[in-house]
Amino acid sequence: MSKAQNVFGTLRNFDLGNGRQGALQALPQLEKAGVGPVSRLPVSLRLVLESVLRNCDGQRVLEQNVRALANWQPTGPRTEEIPFVAARIVLQDFTGVPLLVDLAAMRSALARLGRNPKLIEPLVPVDLVVDHSVQVDYYGTAEALGKNLELEFNRNRERYQFLKWGMQAFETFKVVPPGIGIVHQVNLEYLAQGILSAPSTINYQLSTIFYPDTLVGTDSHTTMINGLGIVGWGVGGIEAEAGMLGQPVYFLTPDVVGVHLTGALREGVTATDLALTVTQMLRKAKVVGKFVEFFGPGAAALPVVDRATIANMAPEYGATMGFFPIDAECVSYLRATGRSEEHCRIYENYYRAQGLFGMPQKGEIQYSVELELDLAMVVPSVAGPKRPQDRIELPNMKREFAAAFTRPVTENGFGRASADLDKSFPVSAQAGFEAGGGIRHGSVVIAAITSCTNTSNPSVMLAAGLLAKKAVERGLQVNPLVKASLAPGSRVVSDYLERTGLQQYLDQLGFNLVGYGCTTCIGNSGPLPAPVDEAIGKYDVIAASVLSGNRNFEARVHQSIKANFLMSPPLVVAFALAGRVDIDLSREPIGQGKGGENVFLKDLWPTLPEVRDRMEAALKPEVFRQLYRDFAGQNPKWNEIPASGGNVYAWDAGSTYIQEPPFFQKFELQPGEIREIKGARALGIFGDSVTTDHISPAGSIKPTSPAGKYLVERGVAVEDFNSYGSRRGNDRVMTRGTFANVRIKNLMVPGTEGGVTRCFAGKDCARPPGEPVSIYDAAMAYQREGTPLVVIAGQEYGTGSSRDWAAKGTALLGVKAVIAQSFERIHRSNLVGMGVLPLQFKEGTGARTLKLDGTETFDVLGLGPALKPQQDLTVRLTRANGRVETIPVTCRIDTPIEVDYYQHGGILPYVLRQLVCP
Ligand code: SF4
Repeated sequence: MSKAQNVFGTLRNFDLGNGRQGALQALPQLEKAGVGPVSRLPVSLRLVLESVLRNCDGQRVLEQNVRALANWQPTGPRTEEIPFVAARIVLQDFTGVPLLVDLAAMRSALARLGRNPKLIEPLVPVDLVVDHSVQVDYYGTAEALGKNLELEFNRNRERYQFLKWGMQAFETFKVVPPGIGIVHQVNLEYLAQGILSAPSTINYQLSTIFYPDTLVGTDSHTTMINGLGIVGWGVGGIEAEAGMLGQPVYFLTPDVVGVHLTGALREGVTATDLALTVTQMLRKAKVVGKFVEFFGPGAAALPVVDRATIANMAPEYGATMGFFPIDAECVSYLRATGRSEEHCRIYENYYRAQGLFGMPQKGEIQYSVELELDLAMVVPSVAGPKRPQDRIELPNMKREFAAAFTRPVTENGFGRASADLDKSFPVSAQAGFEAGGGIRHGSVVIAAITSCTNTSNPSVMLAAGLLAKKAVERGLQVNPLVKASLAPGSRVVSDYLERTGLQQYLDQLGFNLVGYGCTTCIGNSGPLPAPVDEAIGKYDVIAASVLSGNRNFEARVHQSIKANFLMSPPLVVAFALAGRVDIDLSREPIGQGKGGENVFLKDLWPTLPEVRDRMEAALKPEVFRQLYRDFAGQNPKWNEIPASGGNVYAWDAGSTYIQEPPFFQKFELQPGEIREIKGARALGIFGDSVTTDHISPAGSIKPTSPAGKYLVERGVAVEDFNSYGSRRGNDRVMTRGTFANVRIKNLMVPGTEGGVTRCFAGKDCARPPGEPVSIYDAAMAYQREGTPLVVIAGQEYGTGSSRDWAAKGTALLGVKAVIAQSFERIHRSNLVGMGVLPLQFKEGTGARTLKLDGTETFDVLGLGPALKPQQDLTVRLTRANGRVETIPVTCRIDTPIEVDYYQHGGILPYVLRQLVCP
């Protein structure tokens, strides 16, 4: 039990509504005490301030931190860092397993040093939801769910055994087993409480202190919970580990962009259309690294499920959060999803006592910038073919696909001749597979109702079911080329789709249930039918996917599909019926009905009353209570998995899934010194928008890749490779998979795709210098001769999902610095967290202007013990002809604590040393 801090005299009681009193750190008292004008701060910042105030202990969190945040200036300089102690942590299995591997490795390191391994123990509750591992191998049949689950357990048995070890080894580590749902939907519907409490002593008296539910998660879309007025965002696994072990998550004081919402969505416009509109608008407004807070009458009128859809896409618009303040809608949602009456009363009373209840109106709060959006202006939209911010109004889809078809690849197009657009290609027949009428550019080959973004929102899921019903009644069918699937983020969705009788119509169109997990959204779309895949490869077809997800970067959805469009679930069904994306659904028929008559989208689109009538079936508290209890009892396959015991994990050298990583194997109690980097070689030179998926792919492993060869050498059959995401517990696979995305383009080897580079390692390398070789092989050759490496990149390096293996793999390949034109927020901090130096070119400079081709060597000068955040450094470039140039760069170690992390070789060695020698 902790002693409540009362540095500013802000501890107060409030009425719990059940005749009892609870304690809180009262933010209004802070203002009364003259500390700062707290009541004018954005709500999201006040919630962070509560955490800073409550954890102000003079060590991790200082009085100065409270004062600085309480006096936040809307347009002030952003130099102060905020130490944020999150109340809990959520993980998904792709990121959670490697995180648990790191914790286990730290325990092993302590055991080797003769220290108590139990020093490594999460200090806050940690929930891991197993959602990323289910793949769509089976579809279009009633057995798909069971068979996919069976395969998932077969493929992931070792990982699940390891998770079970973690459940018994760590006291506050809980697992939601496979087959239950998607982490962010499970968080919204079940894990999130909105208000938390802990026993505490106040003036030597036993009391209960209440505080806002806040979290960080090892998944970018953790922001979805912002829709319920909860502060939380995605962090790298390494930061989450530090957070678990008592370190605050540090971030630069943000700008807060207020988005004033007015009006209401028109008939026929969905929350997905709104989310895509907001994404495009906020990308243009450059909100990267900022908090976004929605307010005004339009925000107040949106139900929590719509707010959550918009909040979910915060990473796509680049914001740290897309936050909606707390109001009566939040209470209604908590009540409707099975939280108790007493809990809802405490929740409301707490936020009223804090002056934080109710949607702010214009003029009440000072934001850094205010933007306006009239919801009535939103129109049906999709986004693609390669980026979520490239919104297309539905009637323009045909024109936009044709434009993208011929646009250069460098401008997010496909660089094809317009004469090729209308060509059609044969697809060979195969037992059990009808070839249909052949395949064209723009043919839909995957249609997936997927992703927590949308499956947590009953209005769009019911709309998909209603559209399917009308289509079936009109006699429409889905082309056999389309691999259709339905993968909700919780079993509640199936309950209401069954209850409303709509699932049967989705089934008839092939949208059978395939699993409760991320599936297509994370690229686990499973194989296409062989004849389709062959035809795409043979004729180089620009095939399309349509999905209700939030990401559509190349090769994310499926390696063979180049055009990927995000859209609402009812539009996914509509495009599956149309069978192609180059269609104007506002004018052209979607298909022909029973009598040969043309059927248009408007004939099938559900009306608002039709959706509203069925909404009651969707939010039944007793269903949530029943489905979110006794996971183990409801999941016999999980129960069958054996668990090993003990506080220290018994590593199995033969495992191809779980290996002890090298991060702590030579751990020393004293850190080294910061030194200049000398004589480095370029491992890769990349263009703009290199994603974390390019750096560390999550999808399938090619047998001919270094990771594939490693697995084959260890007797793993190709069909048992599983995905990179599922093998993140094995650093040997992941290091070999770094930069191994089949679509990554290394400009050192122009005209190629995949993880290839030129290697100039001298001794100990059999190949002639400069010959193309895999990035992994080159990195190992450089490591053998002790040559440090750098990576050169363009704008937005590391954009996309938070993926700590993108930084871990980079570090393990021997990369000492990444020099980019700009960095994505989480990846930059992950690089520092792994001891890799992020350096930023000055405006107007980059690989192209410097004419770099990889034959150069690089020295990073000015690095030393006196390193300061964002200090200017110099890169000395020596060209192949001996000419030397110096380039000024900014060191993107942004905060003082990051200097410490860098000096210690990363955040985890830093934390471990703090624990061992506090
Ligand atoms: S469904 Fe998609 S967005 Fe949601 S957690 Fe899974 S991968 Fe992330």
